[in-house]
Amino acid sequence: MTRGARLVVLGKQGAGKGTQCVRLSHYLAVPHVSTGDMLRSAVKAGTEFGQLARAYMDRGELIPDDVVMGLVEERLAEPDASRGFLLDGFPRTTVQAKALDEMVKPNSLDLVLDLDVPTELVLKRLSSRRVCSTCGAIYSLEAPPKLNWTCDLCGGEVVQRPDDTEPAIRRRLDLYEESTAPLLKFYSDRNLLAVVDGVGTPDEVMERLIEVVEAAIRDKR
Ligand code: ADP
Ligand code: ZN
Repeated sequence: MTRGARLVVLGKQGAGKGTQCVRLSHYLAVPHVSTGDMLRSAVKAGTEFGQLARAYMDRGELIPDDVVMGLVEERLAEPDASRGFLLDGFPRTTVQAKALDEMVKPNSLDLVLDLDVPTELVLKRLSSRRVCSTCGAIYSLEAPPKLNWTCDLCGGEVVQRPDDTEPAIRRRLDLYEESTAPLLKFYSDRNLLAVVDGVGTPDEVMERLIEVVEAAIRDKR
């Protein structure tokens, strides 16, 4: 029933996109396409491309549009994305949003979700965020892994992301306001935007997201 969903999730850094997208992609049975995760794998693999990407990421700067657009276009061309996808971290600029329109043609996106969380709260969440350096699972000082900063899922080391430091966090949030926030108007003008309150427990937020997605898909039929 929810097949074929082509969704984008927007929201500030620390709004909970990663956590919610992992769950929502299982629920909808579509791949979770996270540009941040793709870029971090490239960094970890130590390729030339990864080294280039890292220089931007550690400072909290955006990767150039054409580079990220190429990555996403390749990923969406894979067979598993033909039934739909959940995009996390892309688009982040108007140039990227226009490129995405072209990539999904002749279809359009089904829905764009904005996970809305006030800035004071994302600042708190980002400074206490910890991630598994192997599989990317997300933890925090308040919800640590069970055993001594060892990932519950894969046994990897749980660490602070190199861009979760104060100056990089500040830079990323500034870039969000400057480059990504205008996308809210871009998509609401196209009647695709649904704003979802991102304050609450992960389960509460998940319930709200499912409700909005189900309603949007129902309306489309
Ligand atoms: P966050 O949303 O917390 O910044 P992500 O994991 O989504 O975390 O992204 C991490 C970094 O990867 C960004 O700061 C940026 O350098 C790079 N990146 C990810 N997606 C994009 C994109 N669509 N355009 C440009 N850079 C990106
Ligand atoms: Zn792990």
